[in-house]
Amino acid sequence: MSKIIIAVDGYSSCGKSSTAKAVAKSLGYSYIDTGAMYRAVTLYFIQKHISVTNEKEITNALSEISIDFRRNAEGQNHVYLNGLNVEDEIRKLYVANRVSEVSAIASVRHAMVDQQRKMGKKKGLVMDGRDIGTVVFPDAELKIFMTADPLVRAQRRQIELMTKGETLDLEEILSNIENRDKIDTTRAESPLRKALDAIEIDTTFMTLDEQVDQVILLADMVMNR
Ligand code: C5P
Repeated sequence: MSKIIIAVDGYSSCGKSSTAKAVAKSLGYSYIDTGAMYRAVTLYFIQKHISVTNEKEITNALSEISIDFRRNAEGQNHVYLNGLNVEDEIRKLYVANRVSEVSAIASVRHAMVDQQRKMGKKKGLVMDGRDIGTVVFPDAELKIFMTADPLVRAQRRQIELMTKGETLDLEEILSNIENRDKIDTTRAESPLRKALDAIEIDTTFMTLDEQVDQVILLADMVMNR
Protein backbone atom coordinates (compact mmCIF):
# COMPACT_ATOMS: atom_id res chain seq x y z
CA MET A 1 0.00 0.00 0.00
CA SER A 2 1.43 3.42 -0.89
CA LYS A 3 2.39 5.67 1.98
CA ILE A 4 0.67 8.98 2.61
CA ILE A 5 1.24 12.18 4.56
CA ILE A 6 -1.20 12.92 7.38
CA ALA A 7 -1.33 16.56 8.44
CA VAL A 8 -2.81 17.24 11.89
CA ASP A 9 -3.45 20.91 12.64
CA GLY A 10 -5.48 22.73 15.24
CA TYR A 11 -5.53 24.80 18.38
CA SER A 12 -3.19 24.32 21.35
CA SER A 13 -3.85 21.33 23.62
CA CYS A 14 -6.60 19.68 21.55
CA GLY A 15 -4.82 16.34 21.63
CA LYS A 16 -3.02 16.75 18.29
CA SER A 17 0.34 15.40 19.43
CA SER A 18 -1.01 12.43 21.40
CA THR A 19 -3.29 11.47 18.53
CA ALA A 20 -0.67 11.97 15.83
CA LYS A 21 1.90 9.97 17.81
CA ALA A 22 -0.46 7.01 18.31
CA VAL A 23 -1.63 7.06 14.68
CA ALA A 24 1.98 7.03 13.47
CA LYS A 25 2.79 4.11 15.76
CA SER A 26 -0.19 2.12 14.56
CA LEU A 27 0.60 2.72 10.86
CA GLY A 28 4.35 2.27 11.26
CA TYR A 29 4.86 5.89 10.14
CA SER A 30 7.27 8.56 11.38
CA TYR A 31 5.89 11.24 13.64
CA ILE A 32 7.05 14.85 13.74
CA ASP A 33 5.88 17.33 16.37
CA THR A 34 6.52 20.70 14.69
CA GLY A 35 5.46 22.58 17.83
CA ALA A 36 8.55 21.08 19.49
CA MET A 37 10.69 22.68 16.79
CA TYR A 38 9.22 26.16 17.42
CA ARG A 39 9.54 25.60 21.16
CA ALA A 40 13.22 24.63 20.75
CA VAL A 41 13.92 27.81 18.75
CA THR A 42 12.10 29.80 21.46
CA LEU A 43 14.20 28.19 24.19
CA TYR A 44 17.36 29.19 22.31
CA PHE A 45 16.08 32.77 21.86
CA ILE A 46 15.35 32.97 25.62
CA GLN A 47 18.73 31.52 26.61
CA LYS A 48 20.66 33.84 24.27
CA HIS A 49 18.44 36.90 24.90
CA ILE A 50 17.67 37.27 21.20
CA SER A 51 15.47 40.27 20.46
CA VAL A 52 12.37 39.25 18.44
CA THR A 53 12.48 42.58 16.62
CA ASN A 54 16.13 42.48 15.56
CA GLU A 55 16.20 40.65 12.20
CA LYS A 56 20.03 40.49 12.14
CA GLU A 57 20.17 38.83 15.56
CA ILE A 58 17.42 36.44 14.51
CA THR A 59 19.20 35.45 11.28
CA ASN A 60 22.44 34.85 13.18
CA ALA A 61 20.65 32.82 15.82
CA LEU A 62 18.90 30.67 13.19
CA SER A 63 22.27 29.90 11.58
CA GLU A 64 23.51 28.64 14.97
CA ILE A 65 20.51 26.42 15.69
CA SER A 66 20.35 22.76 14.81
CA ILE A 67 17.18 20.83 15.68
CA ASP A 68 16.71 17.11 15.31
CA PHE A 69 14.59 14.31 16.72
CA ARG A 70 16.11 11.20 18.27
CA ARG A 71 14.34 8.09 19.44
CA ASN A 72 14.98 7.04 23.07
CA ALA A 73 15.09 3.48 24.43
CA GLU A 74 11.27 3.49 24.90
CA GLY A 75 10.80 4.38 21.23
CA GLN A 76 9.73 7.98 21.93
CA ASN A 77 10.95 10.83 19.76
CA HIS A 78 12.74 13.53 21.73
CA VAL A 79 13.72 16.91 20.38
CA TYR A 80 17.39 17.95 20.51
CA LEU A 81 18.66 21.51 20.32
CA ASN A 82 22.30 21.69 19.23
CA GLY A 83 22.84 18.12 20.42
CA LEU A 84 21.11 18.53 23.81
CA ASN A 85 17.86 16.80 24.76
CA VAL A 86 15.43 19.66 25.52
CA GLU A 87 12.20 17.63 25.43
CA ASP A 88 11.25 18.44 29.05
CA GLU A 89 12.48 22.03 29.12
CA ILE A 90 10.49 23.15 26.05
CA ARG A 91 7.19 22.00 27.65
CA LYS A 92 7.53 24.44 30.57
CA LEU A 93 5.23 27.44 30.82
CA TYR A 94 8.00 30.03 30.47
CA VAL A 95 8.70 28.65 26.98
CA ALA A 96 4.98 28.29 26.14
CA ASN A 97 4.48 31.94 27.10
CA ARG A 98 6.97 33.12 24.46
CA VAL A 99 6.59 30.55 21.67
CA SER A 100 3.78 32.19 19.69
CA GLU A 101 5.72 35.45 19.53
CA VAL A 102 8.78 33.64 18.14
CA SER A 103 6.81 31.40 15.77
CA ALA A 104 5.16 34.47 14.23
CA ILE A 105 8.55 35.64 12.84
CA ALA A 106 8.65 35.00 9.07
CA SER A 107 12.34 33.97 8.93
CA VAL A 108 11.84 31.50 11.80
CA ARG A 109 8.89 29.93 9.97
CA HIS A 110 10.76 29.70 6.66
CA ALA A 111 13.67 27.89 8.32
CA MET A 112 11.36 25.40 10.08
CA VAL A 113 9.13 24.79 7.05
CA ASP A 114 12.20 24.01 4.86
CA GLN A 115 13.33 21.41 7.37
CA GLN A 116 9.80 19.95 7.74
CA ARG A 117 9.38 19.53 3.98
CA LYS A 118 12.65 17.59 3.82
CA MET A 119 11.34 15.26 6.53
CA GLY A 120 8.26 14.48 4.40
CA LYS A 121 10.11 13.59 1.20
CA LYS A 122 9.63 9.84 1.68
CA LYS A 123 5.99 10.12 2.88
CA GLY A 124 4.81 7.66 5.56
CA LEU A 125 4.61 10.59 7.97
CA VAL A 126 2.22 12.07 10.51
CA MET A 127 3.07 15.70 11.24
CA ASP A 128 1.24 17.92 13.69
CA GLY A 129 1.25 21.69 13.99
CA ARG A 130 -0.64 24.77 12.88
CA ASP A 131 0.19 25.13 9.18
CA ILE A 132 0.91 21.59 8.02
CA GLY A 133 -2.14 21.18 5.80
CA THR A 134 -2.13 24.78 4.61
CA VAL A 135 1.57 25.60 4.07
CA VAL A 136 4.01 22.75 4.75
CA PHE A 137 2.17 19.99 2.86
CA PRO A 138 -0.78 21.54 1.01
CA ASP A 139 -1.00 18.30 -1.03
CA ALA A 140 -1.13 16.00 2.02
CA GLU A 141 -3.44 13.07 1.29
CA LEU A 142 -5.22 13.42 4.65
CA LYS A 143 -5.71 16.63 6.62
CA ILE A 144 -7.20 16.73 10.09
CA PHE A 145 -8.17 19.91 11.94
CA MET A 146 -8.66 19.44 15.69
CA THR A 147 -10.68 21.67 17.99
CA ALA A 148 -11.93 21.41 21.59
CA ASP A 149 -13.49 23.58 24.26
CA PRO A 150 -10.77 25.89 25.75
CA LEU A 151 -11.55 24.92 29.36
CA VAL A 152 -11.27 21.20 28.56
CA ARG A 153 -7.99 21.90 26.78
CA ALA A 154 -6.66 23.80 29.82
CA GLN A 155 -7.67 20.93 32.14
CA ARG A 156 -5.90 18.40 29.92
CA ARG A 157 -2.75 20.54 29.82
CA GLN A 158 -2.88 20.99 33.60
CA ILE A 159 -2.88 17.21 34.11
CA GLU A 160 -0.07 16.77 31.57
CA LEU A 161 2.07 19.43 33.30
CA MET A 162 1.31 17.92 36.70
CA THR A 163 2.62 14.53 35.59
CA LYS A 164 5.84 16.37 34.70
CA GLY A 165 6.06 18.01 38.13
CA GLU A 166 4.78 21.49 37.18
CA THR A 167 1.73 22.50 39.24
CA LEU A 168 -0.07 25.52 37.81
CA ASP A 169 -3.42 27.30 38.23
CA LEU A 170 -6.06 26.44 35.66
CA GLU A 171 -6.55 30.17 34.97
CA GLU A 172 -2.87 30.62 34.16
CA ILE A 173 -2.93 27.72 31.70
CA LEU A 174 -6.21 28.85 30.16
CA SER A 175 -4.86 32.34 29.64
CA ASN A 176 -1.72 30.93 27.97
CA ILE A 177 -3.84 28.76 25.65
CA GLU A 178 -6.18 31.62 24.73
CA ASN A 179 -3.29 33.98 24.17
CA ARG A 180 -1.49 31.49 21.91
CA ASP A 181 -4.71 30.82 19.94
CA LYS A 182 -5.10 34.56 19.41
CA ILE A 183 -1.53 35.12 18.19
CA ASP A 184 -1.50 31.89 16.12
CA THR A 185 -4.74 32.73 14.29
CA THR A 186 -4.07 36.41 13.68
CA ARG A 187 -0.36 36.48 12.71
CA ALA A 188 0.47 37.69 9.20
CA GLU A 189 2.71 34.75 8.30
CA SER A 190 0.82 31.45 7.78
CA PRO A 191 -1.83 31.93 10.47
CA LEU A 192 -3.58 28.91 11.96
CA ARG A 193 -6.64 28.15 9.87
CA LYS A 194 -8.48 25.07 8.69
CA ALA A 195 -7.49 23.99 5.18
CA LEU A 196 -10.52 23.83 2.88
CA ASP A 197 -10.08 20.08 2.43
CA ALA A 198 -9.35 19.29 6.11
CA ILE A 199 -11.69 17.15 8.20
CA GLU A 200 -12.60 18.75 11.52
CA ILE A 201 -12.61 16.68 14.70
CA ASP A 202 -13.95 18.26 17.90
CA THR A 203 -12.26 16.34 20.71
CA THR A 204 -14.13 17.97 23.64
CA PHE A 205 -16.05 14.80 24.49
CA MET A 206 -13.71 12.25 22.93
CA THR A 207 -11.19 9.95 24.53
CA LEU A 208 -7.72 9.64 23.06
CA ASP A 209 -8.55 6.13 21.77
CA GLU A 210 -11.60 7.48 19.95
CA GLN A 211 -9.56 10.25 18.35
CA VAL A 212 -6.90 7.78 17.22
CA ASP A 213 -9.47 5.31 15.84
CA GLN A 214 -11.18 8.04 13.89
CA VAL A 215 -7.98 9.23 12.22
CA ILE A 216 -6.89 5.66 11.41
CA LEU A 217 -10.30 4.97 9.87
CA LEU A 218 -9.95 8.07 7.70
CA ALA A 219 -6.38 7.11 6.74
CA ASP A 220 -7.60 3.63 5.70
CA MET A 221 -10.29 5.20 3.57
CA VAL A 222 -7.76 7.47 1.86
CA MET A 223 -5.26 4.66 1.30
CA ASN A 224 -7.92 2.34 -0.17
CA ARG A 225 -9.40 4.95 -2.46
O1 C5P B 1 1.91 22.31 19.31
P1 C5P B 1 2.48 23.17 20.42
O2 C5P B 1 1.45 23.68 21.35
O3 C5P B 1 3.63 22.54 21.11
O4 C5P B 1 3.06 24.44 19.63
C1 C5P B 1 3.65 25.51 20.31
C2 C5P B 1 3.52 26.78 19.49
O5 C5P B 1 4.34 26.68 18.32
C3 C5P B 1 2.12 27.13 18.98
O6 C5P B 1 1.35 27.84 19.93
C4 C5P B 1 2.43 27.97 17.76
O7 C5P B 1 2.71 29.31 18.15
C5 C5P B 1 3.73 27.39 17.25
N1 C5P B 1 3.57 26.49 16.13
C6 C5P B 1 3.43 27.05 14.87
N2 C5P B 1 3.39 26.26 13.77
C7 C5P B 1 3.46 24.94 13.87
C8 C5P B 1 3.56 24.32 15.16
C9 C5P B 1 3.59 25.14 16.26
O8 C5P B 1 3.37 28.27 14.75
N3 C5P B 1 3.44 24.19 12.76
